[in-house]
Amino acid sequence: MKDSNFLKENNARMMWHPMTSPQDSIDNPPKIITGSSGVRVTDIDGHTVVDAVGGLWNVNLGYSCQPVKDAIADQLARLPYYSTFRGTSNDAAIELSYELNDFFAPDGMQRAFFTSGGSDSVESALRLARQYHKLRGEAGRTKFLSLKKGYHGTHIGAASVNGNANFRNAYEPLLSGCFHIPAPYTYRNPFNETDPEKLAHLCAAALEDEIAFQGANTIAAMIMEPILGAGGVIPPHKSFAPMVQEICNRNGILLITDEVITAYGRTGAWSGARLWGIQPDMMCTAKAITNGFFPFGAVMIGERLVDVFEGNSEAKIAHGYTYSGHPVGAAAALACLAETKRLNVVDNAAARGTQLFEGCTALQEKFDIIGDVRGGHGLMTAIEMVSDRATKKPIDGASAATVQEVAYQSGAMIRVSGPNIILSPSLVLTEQDAAAILSALDAGFAAL
Ligand code: PMP
Repeated sequence: MKDSNFLKENNARMMWHPMTSPQDSIDNPPKIITGSSGVRVTDIDGHTVVDAVGGLWNVNLGYSCQPVKDAIADQLARLPYYSTFRGTSNDAAIELSYELNDFFAPDGMQRAFFTSGGSDSVESALRLARQYHKLRGEAGRTKFLSLKKGYHGTHIGAASVNGNANFRNAYEPLLSGCFHIPAPYTYRNPFNETDPEKLAHLCAAALEDEIAFQGANTIAAMIMEPILGAGGVIPPHKSFAPMVQEICNRNGILLITDEVITAYGRTGAWSGARLWGIQPDMMCTAKAITNGFFPFGAVMIGERLVDVFEGNSEAKIAHGYTYSGHPVGAAAALACLAETKRLNVVDNAAARGTQLFEGCTALQEKFDIIGDVRGGHGLMTAIEMVSDRATKKPIDGASAATVQEVAYQSGAMIRVSGPNIILSPSLVLTEQDAAAILSALDAGFAAL
């Protein structure tokens, strides 16, 4: 490793950081992380904190998960690469497809299509949805529906279904034919509805309305996160996802759950689909599939697509990545899946999630700056900060940055996204680790 002066000097000089202004990263240099252990990371100055971000919602099993590291090293030694394009395959990808189909069988999933990450998984699902309808002779079904405030990644297709202008405006024009439904976001919504169940019905009615307006026979799929993540952790009322499923089914529209965050236990259920008791047509997964140790993803495919794509020699999948089914990623994912099940991380995610959610709710009593606390389903919690509780005016960037920095100095890496603090730590978090996060947050808010 180069010395710390070199690293600090070149931190943002030679690299553009994602989701950041290049000038901002020069003016406010990003923290340089050089070490890790368990659920903690250490920066270049030797300061160690609990990582309340869990990497980027992906290091579910912590940074020290040895079986995953060993699986990667073994696979690298034996077969570091081979493609799964037409005519070849590799043993790790085959074994993983078998294990994933077993893992997601309760969600109605029957096949896996491998990708290199979340945006790739979303892009793949959108493409397969259009192709599914073409193969069935409904070529006019090309449009996509999604939720406002949803986040689905960065490719043009994924960005087009994103529901946040921040991720869209600079890159417009995006894909045409993508329409957005109000999210079941109780704290702020166009209906001024504060009751989660009533709001779920209003949003479902808005979906029906949009389908009627567009014409059901023009719509390929609805894509939605079971709990909106990057948009600020927005869990809908439990009636919402089943209503969406029923509306989609009734109108011949495929339902894709974007489970890039929610799959593999984060919500305190093994998948978002299982949390809400629905069976989507496709599920997009990535992130925790390899514990963040290798870029990898999987789109899980349900019966409707299997029926149309298989037994039809015309149905060629003209889509795939050089790294689809990468053996090192597949080996990492196999080890992750085994550890995820062995450690039964869902139960811990549920227990520690409740502790964090209740702790944040207690902080809300103490600090006016906290307008809303959302979570209650595993280790996905958000604190929405406001400068005025009565008007719900969002907090200014400088104050949010102060909370973040003081929390960091007090022992926890937290992520601030707009007015939200997003907490998404590893699922192997202990009670003491969760307490350390809460105490660092307390210090951060007190600093204002
Ligand atoms: N979908 C969701 C729900 C996500 O949270 C993300 C990433 N945060 C993506 C898609 C995109 O994944 P990636 O960054 O791996 O491309």
